[in-house]
Amino acid sequence: MEYAALISDGVAGEINDEQRKLLGVVDDRAADLNQMVDDILDASKLESGMLSASRTRVELRDVVDRALPGLEKKAELREVDLVVDIPDDLPAVFCDDEKAGRVLINLAVNAIKFTRGGGKVIIRARTSGEEEVLVEVEDNGIGIPETKLNEIFNRFSQVKPRETSVDMKGFGIGLSIAQELVGLNLGAMQVESREGVGSRFGFTVPINRREVVTRKFLDRLTRLEHAPFVSLFRVKLPESATSLERDDVEQFLIYFIRRNDLLIPESESSWLLLASASSAQTSSFLDRMKADRDKLNRNRPRGPIPDFSIECVRVEAIDAEPRMILQEFHPCSEPSENRYATC
Ligand code: ADP
Repeated sequence: MEYAALISDGVAGEINDEQRKLLGVVDDRAADLNQMVDDILDASKLESGMLSASRTRVELRDVVDRALPGLEKKAELREVDLVVDIPDDLPAVFCDDEKAGRVLINLAVNAIKFTRGGGKVIIRARTSGEEEVLVEVEDNGIGIPETKLNEIFNRFSQVKPRETSVDMKGFGIGLSIAQELVGLNLGAMQVESREGVGSRFGFTVPINRREVVTRKFLDRLTRLEHAPFVSLFRVKLPESATSLERDDVEQFLIYFIRRNDLLIPESESSWLLLASASSAQTSSFLDRMKADRDKLNRNRPRGPIPDFSIECVRVEAIDAEPRMILQEFHPCSEPSENRYATC
């Protein structure tokens, strides 16, 4: 892709407008292939349980800004007008930003692909209720017949368009992966569409509040069923720890936890860690953490990961009502603008 851009910039000699246009197509197709490879890799990681989520405080504006250059190139090539509508006061969310970006790109690429030249695609984000931000991608393209709306999230499902001019490259995996990624980000997907009029795809992301994120995480575990218990741990660093030490420990914890675990920063020097483990499993969870830490420390050029303490605060059945575990998330008076999830 970079080489096509270099040639297009004239680095390898003068080129004419027609050649530049064709190089744009090469670049675009290479980007599509990259996306497909990412989708296939994610599909196989999902199947083997290896796809983890690294959730932190995220500004969705940054996610959109990172995705925009590639999408703008694609929209220009297809002569589609691409508009972004995000309010400045959108609250921060708590999610894996890379995964949110992948979903956004997936939806926006589809919207551009299934919209005729001269059409319009809008990327929008707004709060939805008290707890979520909704990101929407709206197009005025070919739309989807109502009878097919449930099918499109199935793997390898593609709706044959009536218009032969529509490019059907792709193989029907993007939306099924996008839906899984949205679930890992503790949100849900939605779609509205009318054939011949256009489509509006959307996904929600929890706002950056500890209690909200935890409840959504527990709801997800309840739906997954195979994880009947959840253990809550508190991880602590000495008050004197530097921000570098804090980042080192957080990086380790994010690397260590699995997709059905949740790490939430609690303060400058503590985190809450929810793990899908029963009382009987908590000691093996801690053993595994120690083993991983020792292994990492052996090859760590910057020296060992700073010492931290970890204690199990509570173990609960995930479908327990009321959820006593949420009591650990004391309400706080002021929403905070720092990088920690507020309560
Ligand atoms: P792919 O785009 O590779 O075919 P997806 O899983 O992303 O696979 O999409 C599945 C199908 O859903 C598409 O083939 C298309 O029929 C339909 N679809 C998705 N997005 C749109 C859209 N914005 N407008 C019309 N149809 C769409």
